[in-house]
Amino acid sequence: MSHSNHQRSAAPHVALLPGSGMGHLTPFLRFAVSLTSRNIRVTIITPHSTVSLAESQTLSHFFSSFPSITQKQLRLLPVNEASVTLEDPFYAQYEAIRRSSHLLPPLLSSLSPPLSALVTDMSLASTVIPVTQALGLPNYILFTSSAKMLTLFVSFHSMVDSQATNDSDEIQIPGMRPIPKSWVPPSLLSDTYNLLKTQIVENGKKMIESDGILINTFQSIEHESLEALNDGKVVNGLPRVTAIGPFHPCDFERSRPLAWLDDQPEGSVVYVSFGSRTAMSREQIRELGDGLVRSGCRFLWLVKEKKVDWEDAAELGEVVGEEFIESVKGKGLVVKDWLNQEEIMAHQAVGGFLSHCGWNSLSEAMWHGVPVLAWPQHGDQKMNAYVVERIGLGMWAKDWDWGEGEMVVEGDEIGKRVGELMGNELHKVQAMRIREEARKAVGDGGSSMKGLIELIETWEK
Ligand code: UDP
Ligand code: UDP
Repeated sequence: MSHSNHQRSAAPHVALLPGSGMGHLTPFLRFAVSLTSRNIRVTIITPHSTVSLAESQTLSHFFSSFPSITQKQLRLLPVNEASVTLEDPFYAQYEAIRRSSHLLPPLLSSLSPPLSALVTDMSLASTVIPVTQALGLPNYILFTSSAKMLTLFVSFHSMVDSQATNDSDEIQIPGMRPIPKSWVPPSLLSDTYNLLKTQIVENGKKMIESDGILINTFQSIEHESLEALNDGKVVNGLPRVTAIGPFHPCDFERSRPLAWLDDQPEGSVVYVSFGSRTAMSREQIRELGDGLVRSGCRFLWLVKEKKVDWEDAAELGEVVGEEFIESVKGKGLVVKDWLNQEEIMAHQAVGGFLSHCGWNSLSEAMWHGVPVLAWPQHGDQKMNAYVVERIGLGMWAKDWDWGEGEMVVEGDEIGKRVGELMGNELHKVQAMRIREEARKAVGDGGSSMKGLIELIETWEK
């Protein structure tokens, strides 16, 4: 590192342990870059091997872009039970990391200089906290979703047997006004235990023993939830929750610019994507294509048919129809590949985002001031869509079912809503306001920057 520090012989050294999937890896990498730029030494522990191609490619690109950041691989023990292997592969991977947590002590102890802290993904909290406790190493949890989802996450264990299973249509999460039960991830409401439910119950309960919870959000959009969490209104004795977001997108993520976008008028294109790990049925894909045409808007559409990228082998023409691709030429671009979303969102041609509401996608929309049409598909996404609606970042098609549900949303309906999104001037103004707030939060003197500096000061002690 070029700038020397006269007061200290060595900068604090922090290790990061991400979970699985791009939605968890990306914020960890962005956080790592921001720590490095503040003269913190960073080691990232990467589970071997990763679930998706996107993760392994991103990691190799990342470590060659940031040679000062160290990579340590954690070789995962195989998990063979059907109850795990038949589940969502990303949740199964959390489970594999969780069951390999006892392999961490020699790895953590061997790092030099000695660690000041470990920052752990929330999905690994309950198995990693005991490990760091035994080593006397401070453990911070990085929560990669919204503060509203964190509120549910840390309190769910206390209501799993009562609130979650009673007959009411509403659920009373402590520190929050009652919300429809249908916004809670469906697997949490299931009568039987599944991986997600078990993990959330165990991690949520154990997080009270962490040294702090870091979250990729910021005061001006979620101050209510952040205050409730820090005032003990959600869980008594919860460690301090520090908002340090939204994380800056990093230069290493830049790829090839999309020439097609350069030719489109400013703000004219709706970008359509459901993130890195959401499968959509072919029937729904066809209706969505129909809807985009009906909207009359220009569109850039990332199609995904399988959860895991390397399994997504069908040709684009087979999935959306060859005639479709021909018929939309000039007006719409359909891609079945990994594109750099951050770069798309930054492009002046993009004026709206039909999103599944993965929290990183929303953070990127906020960072670039792009209004959102929320169509949550699974997991935390309705809790995040709730934020979209409350802060006026866009609109939420509440009557559309979860992606995993039986319902197929018709093209006609999709076209109407997309048209409404692209024509709504209020959302554009509000999205630009949020963009400003986002940049203020992480700028000098901003609330998230203050949070980060305080955190680093504790590590320096
Ligand atoms: N992403 C991307 N290109 C793609 C799909 C996803 O760059 O083709 C990025 C997106 O910008 C975001 C992350 O992958 O940073 C996905 O995280 P998110 O929380 O939005 O959703 P998830 O994929 O976890 O459902
Ligand atoms: N707010 C928040 N978290 C949310 C939604 C809103 O902290 O999820 C903030 C919002 O930025 C505003 C305040 O709470 O400053 C009031 O929000 P809103 O206008 O939705 O108020 P309501 O009248 O619904 O309470």
